[in-house]
Amino acid sequence: MCLICDRIEMIKNGTNPYFVKELETGYVVIGDNQHFYGYALFLYKNHNYSELFQLDMPERLKFMEEMSIVAEAASKAFGPEKMNYELLGMGDAHLHWHLYPRRKGDIGNYGNNGVGPVWCLPFDKIYDDSNRPSAEELEKMKDALKTELEKLLQA
Ligand SMILES: [Zn+2]
Repeated sequence: MCLICDRIEMIKNGTNPYFVKELETGYVVIGDNQHFYGYALFLYKNHNYSELFQLDMPERLKFMEEMSIVAEAASKAFGPEKMNYELLGMGDAHLHWHLYPRRKGDIGNYGNNGVGPVWCLPFDKIYDDSNRPSAEELEKMKDALKTELEKLLQA
């Protein structure tokens, strides 16, 4: 069982409240937890591959191109100082990009005196229920990201 396949199934059923937009190679969603405000993910459309290098080159480049457009849209929608891009996969091997808007001080004093990747922050803080967006906040975030995405895709 794969959590990402489950979420994609919910998108297809119209029951995923985090879904923003379908692109050619994947699905854009807002992250469940928003300690890093504007955190979004870009989920590859299927579970057939676990490594970026397994995609044939046109598909690989398209997936990366679309990821960078999602990152640009998130940056415009949520106004961070810097975007972080991560394709990990030790938890769920399904190809998915974590797109983290970053701001100074967002990991407190963790990491190297407050400097480091998001994962320097303990998991119980990243995934604390208190940083889940309300239904209203979630709608606002989805609208903002979708608006910026559509502008970039039309350009
Ligand atoms: Zn999967």
